[in-house]
Amino acid sequence: MQAIDLELERKEILRRYRKLLYSIRHQISKAERKQIRLAFNLSLEAHKDMRRKSGEPYIYHPIAVAQIAAEEIGLGPTSIVAALLHDVVEDTDTTLEDIERQFGKTIAKIIDGLTKISGVFDQTSSLQAENFRKMLLTLSDDVRVILIKLADRLHNMRTLDSMPRDKQLKIASETIYLYAPLGHRLGLYNVKTELEDLSLKYTDPEVYTSIAEKLEKTKEDRNKFIKEFSTPIKEMLAEDKFKFQIKGRPKSIYSIWSKMKKQSVPFEEIYDIFAIRIIIDAEPDDEKSDCWRAYSIVTDHYHPNPDRLRDWISTPKANGYESLHTTVMGPEGKWVEVQIRTVRMNEIAEKGYAAHWKYKEQSAETALDEWLAKIREALENPDSNAMDFIDDFKLNLFSEEIFVFTPKGELKTLPVNATALDFAFDIHSDIGTRCIGAKVNHKLVPLSHTLNSGDQVEIITSSKQAPKEDWLKMVVTARAKSRIKDALKEEKRKLAEEGQEIFDRKVKGLKLPVQGDNMNEVLAHYKVMNTLELFYRVAIGIIDLDELKEFKVDGDKIKSPNVNTSKSAQSLEQIVKDVRGSADNLVIGDNLDKIDYKLSSCCNPIPGDDVFGFITVDEGIKIHRVNCPNAIKLMSNYAYRIVKAKWTGQNPIAFQAGIKLTGIDEVGVVNNITKVISTDLKVNIRSINIESNDGMFEGTIILFVHDTKHLDTLTSRLKKVKGILTASRINHT
Ligand code: MN
Repeated sequence: MQAIDLELERKEILRRYRKLLYSIRHQISKAERKQIRLAFNLSLEAHKDMRRKSGEPYIYHPIAVAQIAAEEIGLGPTSIVAALLHDVVEDTDTTLEDIERQFGKTIAKIIDGLTKISGVFDQTSSLQAENFRKMLLTLSDDVRVILIKLADRLHNMRTLDSMPRDKQLKIASETIYLYAPLGHRLGLYNVKTELEDLSLKYTDPEVYTSIAEKLEKTKEDRNKFIKEFSTPIKEMLAEDKFKFQIKGRPKSIYSIWSKMKKQSVPFEEIYDIFAIRIIIDAEPDDEKSDCWRAYSIVTDHYHPNPDRLRDWISTPKANGYESLHTTVMGPEGKWVEVQIRTVRMNEIAEKGYAAHWKYKEQSAETALDEWLAKIREALENPDSNAMDFIDDFKLNLFSEEIFVFTPKGELKTLPVNATALDFAFDIHSDIGTRCIGAKVNHKLVPLSHTLNSGDQVEIITSSKQAPKEDWLKMVVTARAKSRIKDALKEEKRKLAEEGQEIFDRKVKGLKLPVQGDNMNEVLAHYKVMNTLELFYRVAIGIIDLDELKEFKVDGDKIKSPNVNTSKSAQSLEQIVKDVRGSADNLVIGDNLDKIDYKLSSCCNPIPGDDVFGFITVDEGIKIHRVNCPNAIKLMSNYAYRIVKAKWTGQNPIAFQAGIKLTGIDEVGVVNNITKVISTDLKVNIRSINIESNDGMFEGTIILFVHDTKHLDTLTSRLKKVKGILTASRINHT
């Protein structure tokens, strides 16, 4: 490795810095110059031990970004300061507070935005890209953030050579996907074009090189043609005392490639490889009329294609572009696109709005602010002329979502009204369960604080924290809700364990047999659903275990002094009515494994059946059919343990059901049955059992169906099988 000549490098750094200052010498005051110097020094010091992948000192990069911001985007001193500092907070020990102390609120806000946005950009998935686009709305608070980010990306693209191949591909595709359209949107034509070309150079080097070579090879012919085309126009414009320039510029490699792809034609068949541009030096009041006069001169000489006149002078594009475009029939029978615009319009077309404000005699910063306000308006306002902006970005105003950041700048999407607690659970359930508060934009807020788009949220945790019942009211995300419920359940289970010990000691002392059905008697006495609830209540002290002394012991049975089974029994009809009628149902059919319930094996309920849930002592909730023979007993004796239940609409899961068959024992009948079931109806059979007796057969088939409708179809199809006499569902096994 070659030794680095630090002295030489120091000189080069200063040379680059002076070049930056030189390019903005007319636009800055003495005080601003001082600020820039301060920023440069801070950045130089902060990055002093860092090098770029190319081996160059890191400071080259911020200087280059500042240079692009100033020269190619036309930004002012504030942006130059921010550009010099743009990587300082993210990559070095310097904090945002340091920046604010030295450079004030505005700069700190821009740097903060740049740091946040880079977290968004660093994600690879297209989902993040999608998020990014939504983010634009949030971050358009100060569009300078986006503009500096574009300058940053442009420099990174220009120096992409030193990156490893996979990084090149990632950065180049991101560029074409996000940054180039963004540049286009902001009217930065030159930046956009260069980003596109550089991106193609890395994603498809062969195509890029071949088009570049062909452009080079055809250059001479093209120049000759352009000269031939322009000469008569030049003469006429001069006669009319126009101050003007005529350029013939080839289109960008990327746009030629896009045309080739779009029209499926080779390079040679792209007719509008270049456009003639007439740039008029017009007085502000004469701009429009001068352009139309030039148009008239061009079309006096060459015949225009009437379909191809575009007047973006009367109605500028949403990104500020103004120009008059026409396509005329040139020499050799070739269509030629002619763009007519003024010097001012040309500057805007190439550099965007920032250039525009140079023409107004205002101080640089106020002008910039006006421009930013205008862009912000365009970003925020989907109506009027900004409609094509929405098209460009497929941006939606996602009113139902907010976008917030982690302290590291990672983007999180949450529903509107999400709170700090939702955010905590979104990061990790451990963070959520231990959350005691949060800092939103560095300000301390409670768990229930509602977040807004653009907030940066830092969660504060404590190992002593545990989820509370009322947390459920503070969250809106399903994730947080279910995590809180889980945690509460876990908490309850732990307490219940303690409660069980107390309970066991008590019944042991009283010599009370509480196994099996006896436990149901205890549950009924205390009016609780299950043992978990019982033990939990014991643990938290809201159950008086002394009441157990009043229990009557009759052999191995115990009886509660105040539970009268017959008294608590309701009419079956009433219960069934309740079960069917209430809206407040236990919904079954999805999340079978999440919710603690089982389908009972005695009646094998399937979707479509009238069902109810029965809370068992130790098996959670069991779902029975309303016409299950056991149901009558359960409902009449334990009405308080009945839960209303209904099925969800869709049931992707298959449920077990049984069909009973009778028929005439014929050769091949089993074959026919299985054929109907598994081949014709594509139903999975679990078991099939057929017994013959004196030329008749009886069989049971256990199979998997989706719901009652499915089962009905199946049984009616089976009834049609030759030899089958009856086919019906088994109600009880
Ligand atoms: Mn950078």
